[in-house]
Amino acid sequence: QVRVRFPPSPTGLMTVGNIRSALFNWAFARHYGGKLVLRIEDTDIARNTPEALQYTLDSLRWLGLNWDEGPEVGGEYGPYLQSERMDIYADVVAKLLAAGKAYHCYCSQEELEQRREAARTAGQHSGYDGHCRTLTPEQVQAYIDEGRRPVVRLRMPDRPIVFDDLVRGEITFLPENLGDYVLVRANGYPLYPLVNPVDDALMQITHVLRGEDLLPSTPRQIALYEALAEIGIGSGRTPRFGHLPFVMGEGNKKLSKRDPGSGLGEYMERGFLPEGLLNYLALLGWSIADDRDVFTMDEMVKAFDIRKVNANAARFDPKKCEAINASHMRMLDPSEFANRVVPFLAQAGVLPAEPSEKQLAVLQAAVPLVQERMNTLSESPDMLGFLFVSDEAFTIDPDAAAKVLTGDAGVVLEATSKALSELGEWKTEAIEQALRASLIEGLGLKPKNAFGPVRVAISGRRISPPLFESLELLGRKRSLRRLEQARA
Ligand code: GLU
Repeated sequence: QVRVRFPPSPTGLMTVGNIRSALFNWAFARHYGGKLVLRIEDTDIARNTPEALQYTLDSLRWLGLNWDEGPEVGGEYGPYLQSERMDIYADVVAKLLAAGKAYHCYCSQEELEQRREAARTAGQHSGYDGHCRTLTPEQVQAYIDEGRRPVVRLRMPDRPIVFDDLVRGEITFLPENLGDYVLVRANGYPLYPLVNPVDDALMQITHVLRGEDLLPSTPRQIALYEALAEIGIGSGRTPRFGHLPFVMGEGNKKLSKRDPGSGLGEYMERGFLPEGLLNYLALLGWSIADDRDVFTMDEMVKAFDIRKVNANAARFDPKKCEAINASHMRMLDPSEFANRVVPFLAQAGVLPAEPSEKQLAVLQAAVPLVQERMNTLSESPDMLGFLFVSDEAFTIDPDAAAKVLTGDAGVVLEATSKALSELGEWKTEAIEQALRASLIEGLGLKPKNAFGPVRVAISGRRISPPLFESLELLGRKRSLRRLEQARA
């Protein structure tokens, strides 16, 4: 059975890079009917607060990337918080030491630095030189008597480490580039290069799909998996690896967490749909077909193939991200669209959090007018606010007033008021006919000059849903009052 993992370090930030890793693991697990394990890498107590953990979980929930094992859902390989697994790591390290797979290293920072410098000058490799690999018991005792506290290093094999990366093909690392590395600090603190593979082994992970930035740590981790297998820890099988391409931002530099557009919070605030954002992030390295950019998560799951992920760096394009989101906005069922804009209208104070039946009916009726015109949900207060705001609270955007309510606008609005108050049936077609007759035929105006002032008067903005439909939804009384207000 396929078992993959998403192991975030909860720092209170969720970047598009993190989300893409989570998404690819999720899609891979779902495609094969396997399990996605959510493991929280929170050994760095100082940085990882309970709030940050909650934020991580909430983010994944918002995205709809559900996990099969982990916090809040449990599972048989827990605990899933590394901070609760310290005893496990201590036990594994003791076994590695006892089996001679790892050893204590007493070298001080200065000694390491000196020897590294010397090796560099001699043109040799400058990784750890293996000084403490073969200490005699007397030497060890002498170090202990000096009061030195050792780190623990993994004994790396003296042969190349070769693996078949699911994205990049065969990769070889030579032993001279792979010094014995530190698993546990002198203060007993277990490090990422230890705890991550130990948990992968214990949690029976079969595939590790993660960012290319972690590629350099992979040969070391493979050596550790092999050492663990030899002493009977874990499944005994080294997972397969697939390293996802870098995501590049502005100026072809790696997208950093400080770059605008890199954090999930921004997309939530701007009212992206999770399915729109995920669709775009899927395109950072993968595609469903040459001529197709827009797809649902179900379609992605069905088609996902890690071997088709492109190894070349992917460029993050905020415009395309928004365009893909817009496509998903159009794909929503109108009543679902209405549900999704309510929180944004509520947050802007346009609607109460629990709108009345009547407000919901107006909203439902307005959806077909705006669904094709919005790229993100946060545009909804601007687009729809005028339908709900009371006449007392209604205001006209000063910029729109300055540009449109000038010159002949007074005449236009007066003629509009007259035509609309005489109108029999308050319906879109009748409203349109009456205004065309009065303003275009009657006053001889161009449509832009005729309808522009009316639009600003009733919606308060230069961009609004279609005018005649808007007038119908607003109703005769309120429309006439706003026309009057605008003339005042
Ligand atoms: N906690 C690590 C990170 O967030 C996990 C990396 C991995 O997937 O191995 O970068």
